This record gives sequence, structure tokens and C-alpha cells, in this order.
Amino acid sequence: MTSQTADRVIPSFTENLDSVAPLGRESGKVGFISLGCGKALVDSERILTRLRAEGYEIVADVPGADLVVVNTCGFLTSAKEESLGAIGQAVAENGRVVVTGCLGVEPERIMAAHPEVLAITGPQQYEQVVSAVREALPLKQDAFTSLVPPSAVQLTPRHYAYLKISEGCNNRCSFCIIPSIRGDLVSRPVDEVLSEAERLVRTGVRELLVVSQDTSAYGLDTKYDPRTWHGVEYRTRIKDLCEGLGRISELGAWVRLHYVYPYPHVDQLIPLMAEGKILPYLDIPFQHASPNVLKTMRRPANQEKVLDRIKGWRQACPDIAIRSTFIVGFPGETEEDFEFLLDWLEEAEIERVGCFRYEPVEGARANALPGAVPEEVKQQRYERLMLKQQEISTRALARRVGRTTRLIVDEVDEEGAIGRTEWDAPQVDGITFLQGETDLQPGDIVPVRIDHADEYDFWATRLPAG
Ligand code: SF4
Repeated sequence: MTSQTADRVIPSFTENLDSVAPLGRESGKVGFISLGCGKALVDSERILTRLRAEGYEIVADVPGADLVVVNTCGFLTSAKEESLGAIGQAVAENGRVVVTGCLGVEPERIMAAHPEVLAITGPQQYEQVVSAVREALPLKQDAFTSLVPPSAVQLTPRHYAYLKISEGCNNRCSFCIIPSIRGDLVSRPVDEVLSEAERLVRTGVRELLVVSQDTSAYGLDTKYDPRTWHGVEYRTRIKDLCEGLGRISELGAWVRLHYVYPYPHVDQLIPLMAEGKILPYLDIPFQHASPNVLKTMRRPANQEKVLDRIKGWRQACPDIAIRSTFIVGFPGETEEDFEFLLDWLEEAEIERVGCFRYEPVEGARANALPGAVPEEVKQQRYERLMLKQQEISTRALARRVGRTTRLIVDEVDEEGAIGRTEWDAPQVDGITFLQGETDLQPGDIVPVRIDHADEYDFWATRLPAG
């Protein structure tokens, strides 16, 4: 059985559904397990929103649910194993399982491990997942209600939300199979994205996290299609999108950009950061710095002038913080390449860094590259990079001590509040402690002065508003 997506055919297994006796419940309880990256989380939110719209009840209790949906990740071999493990656990605890997401492109693998699974669909096949749930767990017609909450279902805490602006990717990095799983770039029209962002903010979201596979490429596939939003023309491209989001930020929300590649047109976004329309923050997955490695990785925006560009950004917006991820131990990476990367990090002074040891991904072209790096060398390079980054980040954070800035509150307990500055994204960057501030609420944005920093986190004092 197959089902057609935008540009390719993804197998979809629903045979086991035929043997399932419909339950005919008035309010089907659906458990949901979401694995993978922020983009997969957005897919989960969309599926949950549709299920809620149909009248299903979403429950946290997997054994107590009538059926469980598992949204899988299929990027790395370890992620596939984790996904298969989660499916197995859901089968053991509940028995009625629908699988979706990136691993769904390998239905044979899932069925071989867990033949009891009711249905399998691929990434972004929202309608197919909902149909599979509908078939396995039909609701009585009169259970159709207006259950959609005003801001749709979010898996992130209520005060921040991921805003997905496109699907797929036109790049062909040699270590990545995302384009073969998710297809080429398909951008959402800019007016649609801006309307969703406005709706989220009007229903209480205080921080929008813009995500995609390649945020800088937004709109390329639509030839920057012009659209109208609130009577103003915006083109479907990143600069116009950020201008529109800047308008929305005036309602009291932060806008943070993730997965930006350093193409020249990114320079146009820096003034919007300097003017406070979007946060002075760029998440750029550089992955390496050595030209040799970048070439074999086939990375986009692999230009010699990146260091100059970063310096230019820091001049135009001194407050900017840059986050990045790097891969060490890529096939062919020599000691010289690795030392080049360490020197580059020192010069670029990237504030926040995540590091991965290279791991082959089934189906990726990089698997055929010569010069595999031994595991112990990968581990040593990983430790050396993290140590170097600790020094850089300690220095960069110390420079912010004494500064005033804004903080968004993530949680409050009896000792005080924990939040993040404008320079820190949720889940991946550092946190800031506000001792004794117990009267705040998650999502509050307050002025603070930075008193102290270690290698990753800040301690701050709240300042009077205004
Ligand atoms: S930019 Fe490269 S790593 Fe990122 S999704 Fe596209 S092909 Fe994969």
C-alpha cells in the first residue's frame, strides 16, 4: 500500500488495521510519544491539533490510552534504534500503536521488529496518521465538538512555540538523509506563517522559535512569492518574514531564528536585531570550519569569508549571540583540519556550541568516503573541542556581567525563578537564575542585570520594570 506525498511515494502500512475491531468510543483517548528534533515536534503538534479537532482526548498515560501514536526520528542509526525501542515499549504497555515520522519511510524495518503495529505513515503525512487513528479508534459522530484550543496543541511549554516556515531541503550535505526523507524545500506562504505567529502570540505565546531545515533558503522554491498580510505586501523570503515577525513582536513576544546558513543576505537581518525587532541571536549549524572537511561534507554557504561576516555582524549588532553545532571525526578529518576548527572557534568566539562525534547514517553518501576516523580519536577530539569551547564561553559570558538585559521566565519554584536571556534558546543553551523571585510566572519577560556567570549559566537580579 502506498500514499503520495508532495514529490515522492512513501510506503504506508495499514494492513493490521483490517484486523482491529473498531471500539466506537465517544471520546477516544490517544497517547502520544514524540521523538526527534524541534521540527518533528512541530509535526507532532499538527497531528495532535487535528486529533483534538476530531474530538479525540490526548492523554499522557500510555498504558491507559485507547491507542498510542509514536512520532519517530530516523536521522541517525542511534535515533532509529531509540525509535524502535519506543515503539516496542508502547506495544508492550498498550498494544495498539500507530507509527509516524521519519522512521516511517522504512516500514519493513518497523514491521520486522514490531509486527503488531497497526499502521505506519511517513513524515508530514498528517492526514494519513489521523485516518489511521480514525480507523482504529472511531468516534461516535456526535462526539465532533469544538475542542480545538485557540492556539492549537503545543508540546512545548505554553509560553514558547516553534514556528515551522518550510519543509524539506534543497541542499545535499553528504552526511544527511533529510532531503531523501522529507524531499526538496517547500516553503509555507509568508502570510500563512505570519497569521499563525500572530495567533500564537495573541493566545499567550511569548517566544516564537523559527525553525526549518534551512531558514536562509526560505521562499526560494516559491520565487519569493508576494503575499498580503494586514494590508501590507510581504514577499515569501526571510527578510520580509522577519519584518512581519518584528511587527508581531510589538505585541510582547520574542522572535528567535534557528538553522540559519550564513548566506550574504543574512546580513540584512542584523539591523532588525540591532533595532530590537527580532532577538540578537543566530543559530547557525556550521558543522566544521576546515575547507577540506566542509567540501567533503558538501555544506551550503561554504565560503571563505564567514569569519569576516561574523565580525561584521558583531560590529552592526554588538549584542548578538551565535549558537552552532559541530561534527568531529568526519571521514577524512585530519589533525590539521581539527586544529583549524579549534583556531577558528577561538577567532569566531561562538557563544554556544553543541558537538557531535560523527556517526554514519544509513543511506548517506558520506559512508562511502575514505579516511574513517577511529572511535577513540573522535572521542578525544570531542573532549578537546568541548574544553576549548568552555574557555571561549566562559570569556564570552563574563563579558556580559554587569549588563542589563531582558529575561523570559521558564519556571518558578520556592527558591526563585529560572529563565533565559535574549542570548539563550530553550533546551539547548544556558539558563539564568533569579534568586528569591517567586512571584513571577512562566512566560513573564522582565528586565534584569547580570551579576555573575560561569561557563554556561548566568545569575541575575531583577530590575524595576520600565
Ligand atoms: S542543510 Fe544539509 S544537513 Fe541540513 S537538512 Fe539540508 S541536507 Fe541535511
